[in-house]
Amino acid sequence: MLTFNVTPQAYPEKRAPEKRASDFNEIYMEYAIQKAEEQANRCSQCGIPFCQVHCPLNNNIPDWLKLTAENRLQEAYEISSATNTFPEICGRICPQDRLCEGNCVVNKDFGAVTIGSIEKFITENAWDKGWIKPFKPETERKESVGIIGAGPAGMAAAEMLRRNGYKVTIYDRYDRAGGLMIYGIPNFKLEKWVVERRTEWLKKSGVQFELKCDVGNTITFKKLQEKHDAILIATGVYKARTLETIGMELDNIIPALSFLIASNKQGLGDKIKQPISVEGKRVVVVGGGDTAMDCVRTAIRQNAASVTCLYRRDRDNMPGSRREVNHAEEEGVKFLWLSAPKAFKGRSGNVSEVLIQRMRLNGKDASGRESIAPIEGEDYAISADIVINALGFEPEDLPVLFNEPSLKLNSNGTIKVAPGTFETNVPGVFAAGDIVRGASLVVWGIADGRSAARAIINTLEARAFIAQAQKKEARRATR
Ligand code: FAD
Ligand code: SF4
Ligand code: SF4
Repeated sequence: MLTFNVTPQAYPEKRAPEKRASDFNEIYMEYAIQKAEEQANRCSQCGIPFCQVHCPLNNNIPDWLKLTAENRLQEAYEISSATNTFPEICGRICPQDRLCEGNCVVNKDFGAVTIGSIEKFITENAWDKGWIKPFKPETERKESVGIIGAGPAGMAAAEMLRRNGYKVTIYDRYDRAGGLMIYGIPNFKLEKWVVERRTEWLKKSGVQFELKCDVGNTITFKKLQEKHDAILIATGVYKARTLETIGMELDNIIPALSFLIASNKQGLGDKIKQPISVEGKRVVVVGGGDTAMDCVRTAIRQNAASVTCLYRRDRDNMPGSRREVNHAEEEGVKFLWLSAPKAFKGRSGNVSEVLIQRMRLNGKDASGRESIAPIEGEDYAISADIVINALGFEPEDLPVLFNEPSLKLNSNGTIKVAPGTFETNVPGVFAAGDIVRGASLVVWGIADGRSAARAIINTLEARAFIAQAQKKEARRATR
């Protein structure tokens, strides 16, 4: 270990921009085993591992790095999978530059240990070796849990509950499980077979999936409550934030998810009634988060004539991962920083131009975030055939959708849960993932799903214990 000062940091090979921009395959190659061991060896085995502190799952990173460096790969996998339901997914799509790797102590002077790539290597190797098998609980329990939403939060909770012997059914309105991992995040970041392999693994372990089941429409929330001993709401956030900009009513101004879902469905081989293609078009994407980065890079792969990203703050203050911006720039995306759409102009009902308001940074606001102010008199226009709105997402009105008006929400519309227990104000109903946190990350969805599952297990065990004690008491009383 401790070779960080003699072994240079090396990520797995990245495919050349012109090659990767012409397909939807993942952009990174796999580590060869020697490379993974060599890179794991760079870890300095810190007494206080900041990488672990800043991993939402509190993964035991130094231990699995040491085991990898020593070629003890099965043990490395066991340690890594003990805290993470989908380590090969996090290894691919966590913004490591903001989490584990960004806080690695050797990052500043020598380049971080390549934690995410090694985590992916350990788990892919485990799949190849056949170490990941469907699991069987030690004892089957009679209670069942209904989970609404087959995204990372719902699926991570399902795994824990099933391992503990509970009957688990996941309901999802889509035709495939995976949530945003299947229909939001593009293939070039996360190939879909990786998610489908996990869905199969859960199915073979006894988790039931009821797809194309839109809770609130196909089935009532009440019916689910009657059917199950506990409910977990993990429905994510899907309502697109809209721009209050002149000309928003023009055609060809579309929400990011419509574009990404259509592209992902096409990649999965589905027939789409109204495909959205940007081939040969001048595309303008508005936003600076991960969704915006996914839209610009998808547009590049669809052979757009040009792709421009407008973001109202600067590069240092954007919410998305810097690494994703670098990938996008390498692939030919143009970024206009400190630029906001002021108006959309159209021809025959379609957008044809975006009038841009130049902005400046204006000091930190109360939340510590850099505020912005318009620069007057410097507006200019760029041509556009299609505008993609990637400004983020808000929750749907669940108390209305579920006809459960007593369900308490936070001021931003997310579900209110008791700190630590993930239980809502409705007894026996829990919530986890983006629907509690607001638009966040897959790794946080997994962390919350696992914590909510633990809370559900505690509640159901307590209920079973009380029921048994009451039965005993009743028996004693009748003797
Ligand atoms: P979701 O993944 O949204 O899953 C919720 C599920 O609930 C969906 O399948 C939905 O169909 C289902 N559902 C909703 N309502 C109902 C209903 N009424 N009945 C039945 N089913 C219902 N995070 C990262 O870590 N890295 C990234 O690179 C990244 N890129 C992203 C790119 C895009 C374009 C987007 C939009 C998000 C990205 N994220 C990324 C964020 C990440 O995908 C989410 O934070 C995460 O998926 C949230 O998990 P979840 O389980 O809470 O919800
Ligand atoms: Fe890093 Fe994400 Fe893995 Fe945690 S789960 S170690 S943050 S890549
Ligand atoms: Fe190793 Fe970096 Fe974590 Fe320290 S912070 S234990 S060097 S990975």
